[in-house]
Amino acid sequence: MPVGTVASVKGVSQDILEELGVQILLGNTYHLYLRPGVGQVRQLGGLHRFMAWPRAILTDSGGFQVFSLNELRKVTEEGVTFRSHLDGSAHFFSPESAMEAQIGLGADIMMAFDECTEFPADRERARQSMELTLGWAARSKKYFEAHKREVPWATDHIAPGVPTWAGERNLAGGGDDHKIAGQNLAELRSAGQVRTPAPTQTQALFGIVQGGMDPALRRESAERTVEIGFPGYAIGGLSVGEPRAVTREMVEATLPHLPADKPRYLMGVGTPEEIAEYANAGIDMMDCVLPTRAARHGLLFTSQGRLSIKQARFASDQGPLDSNCGCRVCRRYSRAYLRHLYAANEVLAQVLNTVHNLSFYLDTMRSVRHSIALGNRAQLLSGEQSGVKP
Ligand SMILES: [Zn+2]
Repeated sequence: MPVGTVASVKGVSQDILEELGVQILLGNTYHLYLRPGVGQVRQLGGLHRFMAWPRAILTDSGGFQVFSLNELRKVTEEGVTFRSHLDGSAHFFSPESAMEAQIGLGADIMMAFDECTEFPADRERARQSMELTLGWAARSKKYFEAHKREVPWATDHIAPGVPTWAGERNLAGGGDDHKIAGQNLAELRSAGQVRTPAPTQTQALFGIVQGGMDPALRRESAERTVEIGFPGYAIGGLSVGEPRAVTREMVEATLPHLPADKPRYLMGVGTPEEIAEYANAGIDMMDCVLPTRAARHGLLFTSQGRLSIKQARFASDQGPLDSNCGCRVCRRYSRAYLRHLYAANEVLAQVLNTVHNLSFYLDTMRSVRHSIALGNRAQLLSGEQSGVKP
């Protein structure tokens, strides 16, 4: 999932994201809550309609930013008091208010409110933090179940004549001239790009596993989160400064205790090598700012490894950024031009670099999916063969 922090994947327009094959992107509740505000997004029909993005969206709980951007936060059992990084104003997030915010934003998937345990943390601190997250998970689910019909695109809550993102009421009323992003909704829907929510369709709330860097706590957190019961599970609290080997160990300690038939989401990971590795280990979803953030700093991921486009050695290089990449940037522009744009501090440098890096990440996942499908087929074939053997 590319990260679209404030309802925007920095530098890349939604039509290009569609062209790249992005199926789902992530929005940050903390940032959207502060600006433009949940009430504003709700009034505009929810996040999909607001940002003209008909495909899936996941919002985080706001917890991670509250913990990472706020030195002065105050955590109690009830919730977290924090100050806006924009203007210093005081705010309070609880499991209930974080759910209310995410229901108002109306993403397809929302996350339980959790405490991202800091690194390093001793075992007692990690346990206490895990208990807090488990209590908050149960409260998140309780609030969600009681209020899930309040999502802005819930078709049974929309007044007649109000255009919804799903547009179902308009279509049901024969008004098929409802336009979104210049395209006819019926066309988008027949192309499979717009969901057709049933009247009772709601968001999905995922639980989050914590437990610090302790394998036993990770296991306990996973088992008790599964007991509460969610349609998908995330592994949180990793990529917070620990060595990569520890991240891997924690993922391995958690994965077997999460149901394989539900989506398993590893938060905040990783490099192209890591996302391939974790996908092969059984992770289904990941999000990371690395491809987009690195691109804005001229760091590009290619089939030949990483390169920094700002280097002088590219000044006369007429070759493509990555000769094995078929993205619109590699098809059209030379390394020399991309290097020049970066050196001249042109906005286009950030746009083109981001498009390529996202394309590279999405290609990485496409090839992982392909190899998993091939592996499954090979396993099936070998299973059939072994079936005829004694
Ligand atoms: Zn490319």
